[in-house]
Amino acid sequence: MTEQSNARWHFRTRAIHVGSSADPQTGAVVPPIHVATTFVQPGAGQWGEFDYSRSGNPTRTAAQEALASLEGGCGSLLFSSGMAATHCATMLLNAGDHLIAGRDIYGGSYRLFHQICHRAGVATTLIDLTDVEQLERALRPTSKMLWLESIGNPLLSVPDLPRWIEVAHRHGLLVGVDNTFATPSLMRPLELGADIVMHSGTKYLGGHSDCLAGALVVRDADLLQQLYFIQNATGAVLSPFDSFLLARGMKTLDLRIRAQSDTALQIAMFLEQHPAVARVLYPGLPSHPDHERAKELLDGAYGAMITFEIHGDVETTARIVKTTRLFQLAVSLGAVESLIEQPATMSHASYDAAARHEAGISDGLIRLSVGLEDPQDLIADLDQALQLASQLA
Ligand SMILES: *Cc1c(COP(=O)(O)O)cnc(C)c1O
Repeated sequence: MTEQSNARWHFRTRAIHVGSSADPQTGAVVPPIHVATTFVQPGAGQWGEFDYSRSGNPTRTAAQEALASLEGGCGSLLFSSGMAATHCATMLLNAGDHLIAGRDIYGGSYRLFHQICHRAGVATTLIDLTDVEQLERALRPTSKMLWLESIGNPLLSVPDLPRWIEVAHRHGLLVGVDNTFATPSLMRPLELGADIVMHSGTKYLGGHSDCLAGALVVRDADLLQQLYFIQNATGAVLSPFDSFLLARGMKTLDLRIRAQSDTALQIAMFLEQHPAVARVLYPGLPSHPDHERAKELLDGAYGAMITFEIHGDVETTARIVKTTRLFQLAVSLGAVESLIEQPATMSHASYDAAARHEAGISDGLIRLSVGLEDPQDLIADLDQALQLASQLA
């Protein structure tokens, strides 16, 4: 695979061909999954490309090459989960360092920062990403990293990433962007100047609810080496089988996210005119506060996550999320099957109640992960569940 051909190919071609060439021994179009944990060395004290599977594995390397190419990075590292990837990035920080993060981040990241990084002596301040002055106000001499999400969770805010990156860099901060919701199909934060892109590969990259994975992608070779050192020293690597599933998922990423985004827009429009619905948060709707920015920063589609609020209390909300049939009641997102959940009691239950309300996550919120089913069937499913809310109201 020459670098030249890589750079010339478009996204979908790279998704299929980078890191995936025919097996030279057998001609198999799909390279074998390398399950070996150890590799024969040419001599004592001599090292080949691979020696021990925690330090490097051919199947993992292939998937890493594919993802690095899609995100426009110099390299990537794959982890056993998204949280392991985020944790690795935070281990760049030392005791006494300060981390600044967006307020509406993934609940698990919130927990990691406040309950694990805190124990290691790293303090976290959460800031509202609507106002860049918040960053200036939160800055301390010890501030080392800014952590944001390309599309916020669960309110689907789209922060002004280029501006945040510029201000953070002016103050010498590393910028990490959780790009799970947007995927490299719709946004590539490294191209906007970010230092680290993080993924829960469990979601859109894998795309089929059958592979737990995480990733870090970077632009700078030194930073890649530092992260690789931490990963190898701490050990949360992705298994060969999951590396294969992730690589297979990424081949159809662009098709999936665009089809799912089309359906999401139709559903968001349906919800917006429904009498049982108080408000709909979808970046593709002109009513979304960040719609104009989303149009500018996202590449031709607005993602497949929708959050909406119903007229009704916490019990009514809980009953609606139990009443849909195609939208299955489950956390997680990004796969071919549609899911529904109540952030207050599920994905964001690890927030304390006051912080949750401060972040705008009310009891009546419902979050949808729109899958690849037929849009008409999904709309009919939501309609029958919402009728219940209207009857109860
Ligand atoms: C799921 C998720 C994570 C955590 O990833 P895991 O693979 O579950 O460890 C982090 N960030 C976002 C935005 C997620 O949706």
